[in-house]
Parts: sequence; structure tokens; C-alpha cells
Amino acid sequence: MNDFGAETPFNEASEALGFATGQPVGDIFALNALHVDIFTLFPLMFAGPFGESIVARALANGLLSVALHNIRDYTSDRHHVCDDTPYGGGGGMVMKPQPIVRAVETVLTRKAGWALPAADVYTNLPAWDAEQPVALPAGVPVILLSPQGRQLTQPLVAELAAMPRLALICGRYEGVDERVRTQLITDEISIGDYVISGGELAAMVIVDAVTRQLPGALGDALGAHQDSHSPGMGGLLEGPQYTRPFTFRGEAVPDILISGHHANVERWRREQALLHTLRRRPDLLERMPLSAADKLYLAQQGWRERPR
Ligand code: SAM
Repeated sequence: MNDFGAETPFNEASEALGFATGQPVGDIFALNALHVDIFTLFPLMFAGPFGESIVARALANGLLSVALHNIRDYTSDRHHVCDDTPYGGGGGMVMKPQPIVRAVETVLTRKAGWALPAADVYTNLPAWDAEQPVALPAGVPVILLSPQGRQLTQPLVAELAAMPRLALICGRYEGVDERVRTQLITDEISIGDYVISGGELAAMVIVDAVTRQLPGALGDALGAHQDSHSPGMGGLLEGPQYTRPFTFRGEAVPDILISGHHANVERWRREQALLHTLRRRPDLLERMPLSAADKLYLAQQGWRERPR
């Protein structure tokens, strides 16, 4: 039984997001468009995060399209069961392989943007043979959100943003039956070394981070390029930023920022980025390219270079 009750239809979530069945938000034929298919037992969770701000704007502008697929819609048994007790005992429940594999194989063998029509949920599912593996399109990563996956980093985000289509599978309970991994999954991604209750929040993190990389998604074209961990920052953390008022509680904005001397401002920003990184994440300095000037500045701040 799902937390919303077995009868909760996928399309409530679609409608909450302004999705029409089979027609995700966003023009999926737009240049630079990325289409994301998300497989979940809790599609309603996505309404808030995808309904505001940068992701919502990317959806509206056709840079991004998302289709939410309720895994439960792909069950045909009376109680629409998606989980069962683990073989060998132990606590909790495990997600059954058939509904997940059926949902993913059905959706990914159709054009990006297809979703099961509401009228067909449970009752009129496209034909599928549980014993017959289906060839999925090459070049579409089928990603399981999992604390056991490779960790999400900015380079991995950039890798995902370059894909035309992604499939994200959200686990729940104690996780998914191992046959989902062996039969379906091409990649496994973790958002960090901790465990959350389901893959939905992790999928939202991926979609948000990836959207920031889509050309045109941010108002300021340089914004994402100059974020911490980004190529424009050479992988460093971003330095301090200030806005009005000039003085707050007696603390003034550094004079250099109002000097009007562009080259000096850029050098100061670089040094501040080096300083933030040295103080907060010195481990990052070990693996990034540093100029002689960077090394000199860091040495003056007490950094000792380790042999690479
Ligand atoms: N028993 C599983 C294990 O030890 O690997 C954890 C299950 S967790 C409670 C339920 C689901 O949340 C997972 O299947 C996965 O989809 C998601 N999840 C939990 N932690 C995650 C993380 N750090 N990154 C991505 N997904 C995560």
C-alpha cells in the first residue's frame, strides 16, 4: 500500500505540476532540451521543487521537460503491490522488480515525452513479457538513486547535462530488488554518504543541479560557470560576495570592489576563492591546477603543497 493509498493516480501529480498526460511541461523539441523520465512511487513530491524558480522557468521555456511515472501504475494485480518482504528475513520491505522494470522498459522504448494515459493506468498497460528483456535506447542512462552509487559532483552534473534524455529511478523502503540493478540499471548515483528515505529528494537534487547547466536556464549566462566547484572557478570554492548596503553593522565592503580596477578585482576574487578553499576544503587544492601565483598566495596563507 502506498502512503497515499493504492488508488492515488499518477495524473494528480502531473496536473499539480501543470503536466498533461503524455505531454510533459516544456517543449521537448527545443534546442538544448533535456528530457528527464522520473520513476517514483511518490510523484506528488515533485510539485513544489519543480513548480518554482529556475527549474519551473526551464520547464516553461522548453529547456527542460520532465515526465513523472508512477511505478504503481504499472501493476496489474488487485492490490497494486510494489513491495514485498526480503528473502532471508530481516526488517523492512524491498521494492519488487516487475513494476519498475515494466515501467522503465515501457517508457524508454517510446518517444521522450510519452507517459501512460490516465485511462490506461492498471487496466490497459502496453503488452510486456516479464521474461523477455527489452533493448533500451543506447545513450539514455538508466540511473538508480542509491547511497551505494558514485557520488554526485559538479563534473558528473556536467556529464548528465550533456545528455538528451535521462531516466531516474527512485528507490523506497529498504531499496530495490537486486535484479533491477542487473537487468536495467546503467548507472547508480548517490547524493552523499548518508541515507535518506527515498530517491525522490535525490532526483530533485540532480534535476536542479543539471538544469543550472543548461544554456539559457540562468538569467546570468556566467552564473553557473562561476559557482563553487565549476570549471570557471577551476574547481575552487567561490569567494565572498557583497551587495548593498556598503556598510552593515560597521562592516564595510572591501574597497577593492569599488575601485573600478577590473584586473585587480579579478585577482582579489581569485585570491579570496583560494582562501575560502584553503580554509573550508583544503583537500580540493590537492587535485586542481594551480598557477605559480596561486601557489605563492596560498603559501603566504600557510599552505604547504604536498607532492602529487
Ligand atoms: N537499504 C539501502 C542501502 O543500505 O543501500 C538504503 C535504502 S534507502 C532507506 C531508500 C532509498 O532511498 C534508496 O533505494 C535510494 O533510492 C534512496 N536513497 C537513500 N539514500 C540515498 C543517497 N544518499 N543518494 C541517493 N539516493 C538515496
